[in-house]
Amino acid sequence: MDFYAVLHSAEAGEFLSVPEIALLLDAPDAASENALFEAAYRVKSRICGKIVNLRGLIEFSNICTRNCFYCGIRKSNHKVSRYTMSMEEILHSAALAGEFGYGSVVLQSGERSDPAFVDFVEEILCRISQLPYELGITLSCGEESLETYRRWKKAGARRYLLRIESASEKIFKAIHPADALYSERRAALERIKTAGFQTGSGVMIGLPGQTVADLAADIDFFRSMDLDMIGMGPFIPQEDTPMGEKFPDQPGMPEKRLELSLRMIAVTRLVLRDVNIAATTALQAIDPENGRERGILAGANVIMPNVGDIAHRKDYQLYNGKPSLDENSEDIRNKLIASLERIGETARFNASGDPLHFFNRVQNK
Ligand code: SAM
Repeated sequence: MDFYAVLHSAEAGEFLSVPEIALLLDAPDAASENALFEAAYRVKSRICGKIVNLRGLIEFSNICTRNCFYCGIRKSNHKVSRYTMSMEEILHSAALAGEFGYGSVVLQSGERSDPAFVDFVEEILCRISQLPYELGITLSCGEESLETYRRWKKAGARRYLLRIESASEKIFKAIHPADALYSERRAALERIKTAGFQTGSGVMIGLPGQTVADLAADIDFFRSMDLDMIGMGPFIPQEDTPMGEKFPDQPGMPEKRLELSLRMIAVTRLVLRDVNIAATTALQAIDPENGRERGILAGANVIMPNVGDIAHRKDYQLYNGKPSLDENSEDIRNKLIASLERIGETARFNASGDPLHFFNRVQNK
């Protein structure tokens, strides 16, 4: 197989086999990597325009019942001071997103499924829907029952993000304790679709033991799940977690994971075409000046600037080096708009920015 021949077919929208996806991810040199990014960016520009959709990110609670080996807010990390934002704080952040013209918010938290939490999220959704702004709402709160997903959908959320973390069951098991079941994570994603959400998933990139073949299988998983949205980024060790202790960063590793993440974005764009792909905060954690912009130039079309209270940000550190810890939401917004302009992209304001794929998927049913 010739790299450039496969890249040409990919740009034309032909079906790629898993080995062909792996070949693209494995671009052999700087010239082929550049050609990959350029092809993915042309496809992104053709399908989504030179436009970036913005979502105001609200990390509303770091209380978590899970113990994922990589995650800084895992239940057993006693160094974290736990918080849940009050309804007023959450509504204030959502209103700020509305004022900024973001058109959409993402409500993210640790995982809980007790009735008080389910009710609280339902109420947040109802109250945000009453604000004088048209805000598309995305949830990212973990695995729940179909009934809960249906309640949250009915209360006003339209998108749900649940990363599979790795589509390889072997890797999934290696990075989670025994009570986190791969089959359950997949089943939860199915439930999210059944509840009628625009459905998103993703993986961490550069996990210990993860190969290019695993990453190609991840993209094949996204395709087979017919997902609408992809949010993925580099794995970044967090020092107070089992994986952070066992696999501390060596010099050069963050940059390698960043580069691999950009390749994943590019190949995912070429394979999935009309989905929304996020240039995630983890890219910015490794390259604070240009990480997310490089994500956009590799084919992503969504950015999620933080609109949460600065006071809580330091307590929602999933990994080391989280950016914008002490930057207010307005400065984040102004910097982002300027940096998008610099790369010839325009932020889309006052629009929900739904993934085209969702409408194509629903129409083709
Ligand atoms: N609890 C929800 C869930 O499980 O989907 C949402 C919150 S969870 C903290 C959000 C995402 O953070 C996870 O899906 C994971 O991919 C990412 N994450 C956690 N720790 C990370 C790390 N050390 N490096 C990179 N990403 C990480």
